[in-house]
Amino acid sequence: MSARRITIVGAGIAGLAVARALALRGAEVTVLEQAPEIREVGAGLQITPNGHRVIEALGLGGEAAQEGQRAEAVELVDGESGGRVLRLDLLQQRPGSPFRFFHRADLIGMLANGARAAGVEIRLLQKIDSVTLGDGPPRIRTALGDEVETDILIGADGLHSKVREALNGRVAPFFTHQVAWRATLPADPGIRPVAQVFMGAGRHVVSYPLRGGHLRNVVAVEERRHWAEESWSLTDDPLALRIAFEDFVPEVRGWLDRIERPNLWGLFRHPVAVRWHGGGAVILGDAAHPTLPFLAQGANMALEDAWVLADCLMSFKAPEDGFADYHARRAARVRRIVEAANANAKNYHMSGLRRDLAHGLLRVLDRFAPAT
Ligand code: FAD
Repeated sequence: MSARRITIVGAGIAGLAVARALALRGAEVTVLEQAPEIREVGAGLQITPNGHRVIEALGLGGEAAQEGQRAEAVELVDGESGGRVLRLDLLQQRPGSPFRFFHRADLIGMLANGARAAGVEIRLLQKIDSVTLGDGPPRIRTALGDEVETDILIGADGLHSKVREALNGRVAPFFTHQVAWRATLPADPGIRPVAQVFMGAGRHVVSYPLRGGHLRNVVAVEERRHWAEESWSLTDDPLALRIAFEDFVPEVRGWLDRIERPNLWGLFRHPVAVRWHGGGAVILGDAAHPTLPFLAQGANMALEDAWVLADCLMSFKAPEDGFADYHARRAARVRRIVEAANANAKNYHMSGLRRDLAHGLLRVLDRFAPAT
């Protein structure tokens, strides 16, 4: 591709990863981020071997080894009896492909440093209000009233993407009747580097360590009738969380008892975008294919997208040819993963089907862990 101005909206995982991947290939890249600083609220992320391979390809494997904590196993546990249903030993089964736990802030910080080191300009306080795509170059308007024209516009602006909206119109997501509470708490000494899923009828709790075992990440999901907002900024009464899991094993109840201000998030299903590109713009990550968190693949898919998009864009003379190749290489895989995550929600919440569950998870991990 000849020299063009590339503007990326969103300094999340997808935006920062594609920014570094493009800059390493010689592109001139600017990232516009609405937040006043690069920082992540949120908590933990599981980066599976497929996502990790992208981090290594970005030249950040050494930093990842310092920032992340290597996982030894994934365990499925019956939340009411405490009996182990399945253990997937990651060190034995995949010795060469790390699976790591990251605090989101550490992963984002690592990618932002990596992007800046490759020459990317990251501009903060740049909330994009509207995107215009047509025959000419893409144009964006910021909330401060600035107009920006660019040769290539990359939408990495997450769930409520303006770039996706400009390409596809507005599509309303639907509430899955599931909510997730999320919190971190100081970990007990000796916490094992294991992701544990405690399952019960209509609910489950996921826990794993962060920051070298100093913190415990807890995500608790419950099926419920009433609506909750799709936003991490909502907090909830910790009593609601404790009541939802009051018949779970004392180990889990002990963690929940220590959570004072859990964040509450309504889990919505968004369709995979029909149009991923057009008029000089393209989308990736959650902007293109938001996924429920039950396979821990949203961030991993964002990393894979970033690598493939940069490769496609720099391999073709005309950006639209690169965009089309990127879509062709990614669409079927992400659709499969979004569907598998939807199905996994049901698996986790079944009762009396622990065997099927165990086999289902094994199949899923085996199918999706290797990168394409
Ligand atoms: P985002 O991370 O949402 O980044 C979008 C960026 O764009 C943000 O910085 C935002 O401020 C900015 N932005 C948005 N709108 C604008 C605008 N108008 N103007 C300027 N900037 C804008 N995935 C995993 O792989 N592993 C896990 O373990 C995992 N756990 C999860 C647990 C839960 C409970 C949930 C809900 C999700 C989980 N995910 C996980 C999914 C993962 O968090 C997302 O898929 C991932 O963050 C998507 O990255 P992204 O860069 O596409 O979007």
